Amino acid sequence: MPRQFFVGGNFKMNGTISTIKDIISHLNSAQCSADTEVVISPPSLYLLLAREHLRSGIEVAAQNVFDKPNGAFTGEISVAQLKDSNITWAILGHSERRVILQESDEFVAKKTQAALDGGIGVVLCCGETLEQREANKTMDVVLAQLSAVAKAGVKDWSKIVVAYEPVWAIGTGKVASNEQAQEVHKAIREWMGKELGAETAEKTRIIYGGSVSEKNCRELAGEGDIDGFLVGGASLKPAFVDIINAKA
Ligand code: PGA
Repeated sequence: MPRQFFVGGNFKMNGTISTIKDIISHLNSAQCSADTEVVISPPSLYLLLAREHLRSGIEVAAQNVFDKPNGAFTGEISVAQLKDSNITWAILGHSERRVILQESDEFVAKKTQAALDGGIGVVLCCGETLEQREANKTMDVVLAQLSAVAKAGVKDWSKIVVAYEPVWAIGTGKVASNEQAQEVHKAIREWMGKELGAETAEKTRIIYGGSVSEKNCRELAGEGDIDGFLVGGASLKPAFVDIINAKA
C-alpha cells in the first residue's frame, strides 16, 4: 500500500472569522484530489468555526495541546476537549513553539503521548536551525527530537505524521532543495527502521515544511520519501489547493 499523501495547512496566528470563513468556502468548493488527506489548523479560537463550516473529508488540527487531562492550567486546552469538539489532529513540536515558547524535546514527547492516548493524531515537527545545519548537526538534532518521543514510550506511530521542517526554510521563501529534503526524509525513515521496526518505517508519512508553494510543491512531491507537506503562508491563499493536488 502506498503511503497516502498528506497536506496540512498551518495558519499560525493568522486570520479572522471572516478570512477563515473565506478560506474554508474556497476549500469546500475546490477540486481536491481524493488521494490526499487534508487537514487545516487555524488558531484555537477558530477551531470550532472551522469544524462547523468545513465539508466532511477535511479534518481540523489544533496548533498545540496540553499533556494534562484537565484542571488548573490557565490558557491550555486538553486532548479530551479537542476530541469533544471533533478536532482530530494536533500539530506538536513546531519550531516556533520550540524556539519562542522554549518547549523541550521531552515536553513535546509528553504531549505527543497524551494526544495519541486520547485518540488524536499528531503532526510531529522536527528540524534544524541554519547554525545547526552549518555545523553538520542536522541529523543529530532531528533524531534527538524524534528519539525523545520513542523514549517517552510511544510505540504505535500509526497516528503520527512526521513533519521535517528546517527552521531556516520556514517563512523565509528559502525552500530546501529536493535533494536536501529527500536526504533528511530518507535518514529519518532509516532511523525508524532501526528503532521502531520495518513496518513503522514503511507506513509513516514524512512530510516536508518550509516555504512550500504552488511553484515548488510538484518537484518536492516527486521525491520517494516526501509524503506530503505542512504549509504555512501558502495555506492562507487559494494556491493551497494546488499544493493539495501536487501529486495529482
Ligand atoms: P511556511 O511555514 O510555509 O510559511 O514556511 C511552514 C510551517 O511553519 O509549518
